Amino acid sequence: MRDEAVWYTEANDERTSEAAPRRILLFGGTFDPPHVGHLTMAQIAYEQVGADEVWWMPAAKPPHKAEIDTDTFAWRFRMVEALIGSRRHMRVTDVENRLPKPSYTVDTLRALIARYPCVEFLFLLGADSLQHLPEWHGAEELCEMVRFVVARRPGYDFDTAAARARARLPHIRMDVIDMPMLDVSSTWVRDRLDRQLDVCGLVPDPVLAIWRQGPEGGRGWSGGTSSMIFGSASPSH
Ligand code: ATP
Repeated sequence: MRDEAVWYTEANDERTSEAAPRRILLFGGTFDPPHVGHLTMAQIAYEQVGADEVWWMPAAKPPHKAEIDTDTFAWRFRMVEALIGSRRHMRVTDVENRLPKPSYTVDTLRALIARYPCVEFLFLLGADSLQHLPEWHGAEELCEMVRFVVARRPGYDFDTAAARARARLPHIRMDVIDMPMLDVSSTWVRDRLDRQLDVCGLVPDPVLAIWRQGPEGGRGWSGGTSSMIFGSASPSH
């Protein structure tokens, strides 16, 4: 792990403000591929919690998805970059590819808090993930470190998941975002794409172009893309 690295790419070369961000909304996921459901929940949550930025955090090796491995990390990273496009308040970070595998969120938060001690981190997730949160490795410690921001999801009862999380994790802090539920998943999208069917804009064209290249089709992962910034001003002060 390179200590001096700033672990994100700029969504755009220019920053909108010189002010250092202090409240960061983290958005972890496999993003295989990322879709408009992800983008919408990230944008609405950003607005509703008053975050300074959203840091998208593709998992390098999620413990709960055996089929996802680090060999597709660069591909998934670039698809997230493409989904974010020119939104200056969003970035994608490769922090989980720099940390030991599998990618436990609690380890990631420990590393981020050590690197950015003055930043308040919030963590965005869907109601399906909230349902499993009590079983996450280090869930209690994680609850001390972040406030959760939850998007309701069709097929998952938010109230039940929230009650269970509160019972099992007494220190949990969470807010639910107010937005229409979006019934789209990467699983559904992958199935359509594998059968060469139209995904009707649920995955924007720049993301689709990278998807079609495949994990081997793009440039390999060498620790960062050309837009990776190293050793520049940290957002933590
Ligand atoms: P897959 O179908 O492959 O499991 P996914 O669509 O759930 O993928 P992930 O990358 O696993 O996408 O999701 C990242 C986070 O976004 C998770 O916390 C998940 O709950 C949430 N999420 C994804 N899609 C939605 C959606 N349509 N509504 C609410 N939350 C969502």
